[in-house]
Amino acid sequence: MDTDKRKSRDERLKKGFFAVFLFLIIFPWFVVAFLHAGNERLTEELDSDRSLIDDYLLQIETLSENTQFAADPGKSENGEVNGPRYNVEAMTEEEIAALSLSTEELYDGYRKVYLTFDDGPSANTEAILDILKQYDVKATFFVIMREGREFEDLYRRIVDEGHTLGMHSCTHVYSTLYKDEQSFKEDTERLRNFLYMVTGVESDYYRFPGGSSNKVSPVDMRIYAKILEDEGIEYYDWNMSSQDATSPILPKESIVRNVTSNIKYFSEPMILFHDTGSKVTTVEALPEIIEYIQSLDNTVILPISKDTNPIQHISVE
Ligand SMILES: [Zn+2]
Repeated sequence: MDTDKRKSRDERLKKGFFAVFLFLIIFPWFVVAFLHAGNERLTEELDSDRSLIDDYLLQIETLSENTQFAADPGKSENGEVNGPRYNVEAMTEEEIAALSLSTEELYDGYRKVYLTFDDGPSANTEAILDILKQYDVKATFFVIMREGREFEDLYRRIVDEGHTLGMHSCTHVYSTLYKDEQSFKEDTERLRNFLYMVTGVESDYYRFPGGSSNKVSPVDMRIYAKILEDEGIEYYDWNMSSQDATSPILPKESIVRNVTSNIKYFSEPMILFHDTGSKVTTVEALPEIIEYIQSLDNTVILPISKDTNPIQHISVE
């Protein structure tokens, strides 16, 4: 009897030890897995917070871009166009190809509208690209450097869908970008290489954060313009602004009005829009804006190309 009792006690003890042993081995893994999941979630939250903060900072940085030039859409132009040299709409693809002209030459005599989007890619880029695709319109994106699969896919989509990929500095932070010549050179080279790695395209187009006539650079902007010129990069400002960065969220109707009421004053309107995550009304305004432009006679929407007349606030000479 005693022996039996002892045996079963020993068994229980053995089982107990085994259970404790298993627990000691397995439990830490649960803890590790639990902490890891928590950490992942926190990292994700942090990432999204960070991109919100980035977006906010960008807005502040961008504000001066718009306030300086938004008011006067440059009434020096009367917006008249000669009328088409070729009736491109009525031509077949073969007829167009036979002329072997650049797009700008082909559309000689038309009002040429350039839609330009700064500060992306962002959470809105995809929607902007979808709209452009829907209306069969090519635009220009002056981008900053954003790493990560989601953004890299967007750079590639911009290129693959026939839009022009332009540069707008790595970070858009005026104080480091415009610090000195070395800093500007390095920033430009870094962004150019990054975009080349991601898309296979070397961008030859640039828009200065704040525009070439910004008042924040401690260095004469003509020096930076010369640096770009030496690298074979052309820079483009704007002569019209949607004013979508003049307040955190400008109503859609205002954006539509700012653009549609001024286009007729320009033969080559180069319009400034912003592609940051918070600019949802810009996206909402876009279809109406495009429909308006497409309803105008002798008017075409083109992406910036080597043959585009660069709109520049300052000149190197
Ligand atoms: Zn910008």
